[in-house]
Amino acid sequence: MKLFYDLHIHSCLSPCGDREMTPGNIAGMAHLAGLNVAAISDHNTTRHCRVFSAWAARYDLLAVPAMELNTREEVHILCLFPGLEAAEDFDAYVRTKLPDIKNRPDFFGPQLILDDQDRVIGQEDRLLTVGTEISIYEISSLMKPYEGLAIPAHIDRDSNSVLANLGFVTTDMGFTVSEITRRGDLPAIRAENAALRGKPYVTNSDAHYLGDIFDAEFTLETEDWSSRGVVDAIRKGNGLGRL
Ligand SMILES: [Zn+2]
Ligand SMILES: [Zn+2]
Repeated sequence: MKLFYDLHIHSCLSPCGDREMTPGNIAGMAHLAGLNVAAISDHNTTRHCRVFSAWAARYDLLAVPAMELNTREEVHILCLFPGLEAAEDFDAYVRTKLPDIKNRPDFFGPQLILDDQDRVIGQEDRLLTVGTEISIYEISSLMKPYEGLAIPAHIDRDSNSVLANLGFVTTDMGFTVSEITRRGDLPAIRAENAALRGKPYVTNSDAHYLGDIFDAEFTLETEDWSSRGVVDAIRKGNGLGRL
C-alpha cells in the first residue's frame, strides 16, 4: 500500500521544539495534513514514542518509533525502529552514552515530558541535544540487535549533517538510505557522494512547529500497515526515489 509519510518531527521534549508540539497535537496535525504514517524523532530520546503511538491510533495514523541521534562527530542520524520495545531499549543504551550536562531551559528551551493526555508530567533534566559518545562509524551496526535503521539526516544541510561536518560519506559507515531535504539539489548530492549513489532516500520535514509538518506529498510503498512494514519498506527502498 502507498503511504504518505513524514518521519522526522520534533516534539516539545526537544528543547528546540515548540511548546505546541505535543504528541497529541502532532498526531492531530499529521492526520489533518493527510499523512498516513508519522514519527516523533526527538534528539537522543524516544521517550514520547509510546504516547505518540497511542495518539496516532486515535487518528487512524501509523506511528513509527524513532530518535534523532547526535553522534560523537555532532552528526544527526535518524534512527527508525520496528517496534516500541526496541526503540526504548536503544533509548536506555543511548542514555549511558549521553554526557551528563544539565539543560538550561531559559537558554536552550524546556524539555517537557507529557502523558497520553498531553498533560505535562515532568521535564528532562539532562540536555538532550548534545553529541553522544556513539560514533557515526558504529551506528549502523549498533542498530542490528534492535532491527533498526540508521539514516544520515538532512545530508544536504549545512549544520549537523555528515557532509557538513565530515565532508564525505564512506561505505564503511554502512548507510544504505539517506535523508535529503525538500530543497535538496539531487544532481549535486549525487555527484559528490559515490557511497550513496543509487541508494534510496527519504524526505521529511524535520518540523519543530506544527505548521511545518508536511502535507501529503512524499510516499513509500509498504506490504502492511505496521511500523515494521514501514522500516522494511525504507530499507528496501520500496516506493522511494534513488540518489
Ligand atoms: Zn537534525
Ligand atoms: Zn531534527
